Amino acid sequence: MAKVFVPRDRIADGSLPSVCIVCGRKAPYRRFPGVSSPSLAWIILSPLFGLLTFWGYILVVSLFSRDDQIGLPFCRRHRGYWTWRAWFIVGGFAAMVALMAIGMALTPPPPPGKEPHPHWIFNIAACWLLIYLPSFLIVHLTAMRPTGSNRKSIGFSGASVDLENALMDEEVED
Ligand SMILES: [Zn+2]
Repeated sequence: MAKVFVPRDRIADGSLPSVCIVCGRKAPYRRFPGVSSPSLAWIILSPLFGLLTFWGYILVVSLFSRDDQIGLPFCRRHRGYWTWRAWFIVGGFAAMVALMAIGMALTPPPPPGKEPHPHWIFNIAACWLLIYLPSFLIVHLTAMRPTGSNRKSIGFSGASVDLENALMDEEVED
């Protein structure tokens, strides 16, 4: 997958070319200027926590901010690209934790000397885990997402090379 480096300052000031970062089509929308912030790098790029924290961050931003004038360029079709993935990943994880907690709460304490008999909700949680874990990994790994950074730019895996070309064309023109 192509990895495209996008300058942080241009994510922050909204001056990136109007080329969708996912597909390269015309991009009337700008979203998620916060990903350019160096102070958020640990959330976004942490190899250990990044799986969930990045999507958690996207979900929170999607819920609490309206369409931005600054940030990364997205076309009409990909406007919700990160948002629906974040719902699936964070929501699926929350559902798993909730099912386990309910199953645990409903399991009666075993009589002395007997094994505990888990509530049937535990079985649902286990099935969900089996479905959710591989889908989560596939959705995460195939998604366009930030996977690297240096002082000046952030690298996005799976980003459109059209955006990279547009950035390079500008450099030639300057
Ligand atoms: Zn697009």
